[in-house]
Parts: sequence; structure tokens; C-alpha cells
Amino acid sequence: MTARRQRLVVLGATGSIGVNTLDVVARHPDRFEVLALSAQNRVERLADQCARFKPRFAVVGSDAAADQLGKLLRQSGCETTVLAGAEALERISSLAEADAVMAAIVGAAGLRPTLAAVRAGKKVLLANKEALVMAGPVFMKEVQKNDAILLPIDSEHNAIYQSLPKNYSGDLSSNGVRRILLTASGGPFRQTPASDLAHVTPEQACAHPNWVMGRKISVDSATMMNKGLEVIEAHWLFNVPPERIEVVIHPQSVIHSMVEYADGSVIAQLGNPDMRTPIAYALAYPERIDAGVTPLDLCRIGSLNFERPDFERFPCLRLAYEALAQGGSAPAVLNAANEIAVEAFLDRKLAFDRIPSIIEQTLRNAPWAEVCNLDDVMAADAAARKTAREVVDARVRPA
Ligand code: NAD
Ligand code: MG
Repeated sequence: MTARRQRLVVLGATGSIGVNTLDVVARHPDRFEVLALSAQNRVERLADQCARFKPRFAVVGSDAAADQLGKLLRQSGCETTVLAGAEALERISSLAEADAVMAAIVGAAGLRPTLAAVRAGKKVLLANKEALVMAGPVFMKEVQKNDAILLPIDSEHNAIYQSLPKNYSGDLSSNGVRRILLTASGGPFRQTPASDLAHVTPEQACAHPNWVMGRKISVDSATMMNKGLEVIEAHWLFNVPPERIEVVIHPQSVIHSMVEYADGSVIAQLGNPDMRTPIAYALAYPERIDAGVTPLDLCRIGSLNFERPDFERFPCLRLAYEALAQGGSAPAVLNAANEIAVEAFLDRKLAFDRIPSIIEQTLRNAPWAEVCNLDDVMAADAAARKTAREVVDARVRPA
């Protein structure tokens, strides 16, 4: 047990990962205290969280949201200081008193605050996979330079982290590792006829069979872009070449991923699909704590199934491997185009089956560039968003 309580900053506190994080934190008041919370606009939920966890700071996306939050907090007698905007997010991510930062903002908006936590040498609990996909080489260089501790929250990467040797050096061969087996549920449309995908609604796409998640990642799971982003994420986190990352469809989501060794051993991490397991693992690392998760009952589950992914049906997976192979700005372009396409789909401006073609065309049209620093990443992201919006506008078909 640590001598004093760990001081935690939760970016994206009102989202699916944020709420699960606070659930685990609330089970261990002797271990954790909440120093700061952030949310874009779900002000009432954030006000409740402030009243319960009494953070020193709360950050919201706009001055109007800050006014609203301030009023709610005064009514409840909560003394949390309210701040607004992107700079305030970077400020709470790098507070001297903070021990750990949960990076759970969705999408590219999470990159700067997550990087601020890395640059401040914090223990960074990384849920925001888009940050790593966009900025992989820049991000990992900063992790090393600042001695930050990066712990993956994504269930697959958390499983891989747990299944690698204790002192994994970042070199597969010298650690006797042959391959990473990245499991994927296949999402809600694994068996839907391809011809029906044009008519899929946002409600159907967000109804994941095994996980309850935010809307953006739910759509990514339905297109399998989520697995594509995770291939890129695994590449950067564990220094694994793409040809040594195999995606395996496993519809039950019980095995969260595996590591195959040179001697033929395969080490897997299993558990019920509940994000509180990887969250608790990272919060307490290297210790183990109760996460409130129902124990796994393998006899009730009965059997575990596996199949190969269909790259024809799920072109996003292929596009992600291609972007990773191209390197430079290509993963940032892939991510930005995906965010624009998913937003258009959720706004009912784009049919579900058009998402991959928007991304493919943006990858073709947006300029390729080397990525050496954060400015290069942000420039690639901005240019790709502009191109993707043009592609969407030219190709929209009412859903
Ligand atoms: P969510 O949509 O439920 O929550 C997102 C959070 O980010 C909210 O608190 C929201 O207020 C905040 N936010 C949104 N836009 C913002 C902006 N522009 N600026 C600042 N804050 C903003 O998302 P989620 O499902 O919790 O996912 C969060 C991240 O974790 C994503 O990167 C996702 O890929 C990753 N992740 C989620 C799960 C899961 O089970 N939900 C699993 C693995 C990885
Ligand atoms: Mg995942």
C-alpha cells in the first residue's frame, strides 16, 4: 500500500471511461484522491462528480459551461475552482501535485492535454488511443525523454501489457516474443449481410454486443476502425512491427488479447468485458485491487470462438494497416478522416457503409508529410479534416 493517497486527474470524467474510473476510485478512498476533473459539456454530471469527489479544479469546454457549473457548485457548497478551455486542460494535466492522469477524452482533442501530462513526467493512464495514433513517434519520444510512465487502459493493450515479460525491453526478439494476437469482438455487424450496412442507424451502430462505450468508439467498433486504431496503438506502445500483430475475431470478448512466445507458449489475459479491470490494474499498478468486476464464470460461458477478420467487409482495418505502413502523417490523416466520417454518420448525414470510402479518399487526397514534432501532427490533422469534410460534402447520401 502506498504511504499517501495517489492524487489523480481525470480528463473526460463524464464519459464512459471517466465514470468507470471514478467508480473504481470510490471503492478505495484510502488509496486515491481526485485532484481535478474535466468534461466538455455534461455540466450536471460533472457537478455531481465534484460534489462527491471534491476535486480542487474542474475544467469545462466553454465559458458558458463554466458559468453553469459555477452556479451548481455554489448551490451545493462545493469549493472546486472552475476553469474553461484548452489551456486549462493542459494546466490540470501537469499540476505539480498530480501523481497520475487518466487520459479519457475522446478523439484528437485529447492529444495536447495528454502530451502535457507526459511532458510533466506523470503516470499516464492512456485510454485516448487517438492521441497515440495521430502522434505516435512524437508521443513516444516525449514519454522516454520525460520518464513518464505510460499504462494502457484499452483492454487489449492492457492485456498485452500484462502478458508481456515483466521487464519487457521494447524489443520483441530479445524477449522471446514472436507475435501479438489482438482480439476483436467483430462488433454488432459481424454477421450482417454487406448489402444491409447502408441502412444501419446510429442507434444500431452504438449497440455493441459486449461493451457499453461512448458513441464514437462504438461506431469505430462497428466499422472495425477501432481495431485498426488499436493495431497502430500496439505498434507504438510495444514497438511491434505491423506484420507481427495479428487480429483475431473472438466474439465473446473474454480473452482481451494474447502474446505468443518463441517456444510456442501463448499467454492471454481473460476477464469479463468490464473496463474497470484495466482501469483498476493501471490505477494500482503494480499492485492489484478490487475493481467491482463480476468474477469470470468460464463454465457458464461454455466455449470461446475464434475466426479470421474479413478485410473485404471491414475495409477500415485494411486502411489502418496501410496508413501504419506509410508512416509519417498517414495515421494522423486516417484518424482525422475517421473522426469526420463518424461525426457525419452520427449526424445522419452519411450512410454507415460510406465511412471507409471517405477515409480512403482522404488518405489519397491529403498530402503526405514527415512528422517530427507536434506542429507537424496538428498541421496534418487540420489539413486532413478539411479534405475529409470536402469528401463528405461531395459524397453525402442521406442515410
Ligand atoms: P465518451 O464519449 O463516453 O466520453 C468522452 C469524454 O471526453 C467526455 O467526458 C467528454 O466530455 C470529453 N470530451 C469530448 N470532447 C471533448 C473535447 N473536444 N475537449 C475536451 N473534452 C472532450 O468516450 P469514452 O467511451 O469514455 O472514450 C474515451 C476514450 O477512451 C476514447 O479515446 C476511446 O477510444 C477510449 N476507450 C474507451 C473504451 C470504452 O470502453 N469506453 C475502451 C477503450 C478505449
Ligand atoms: Mg479496445
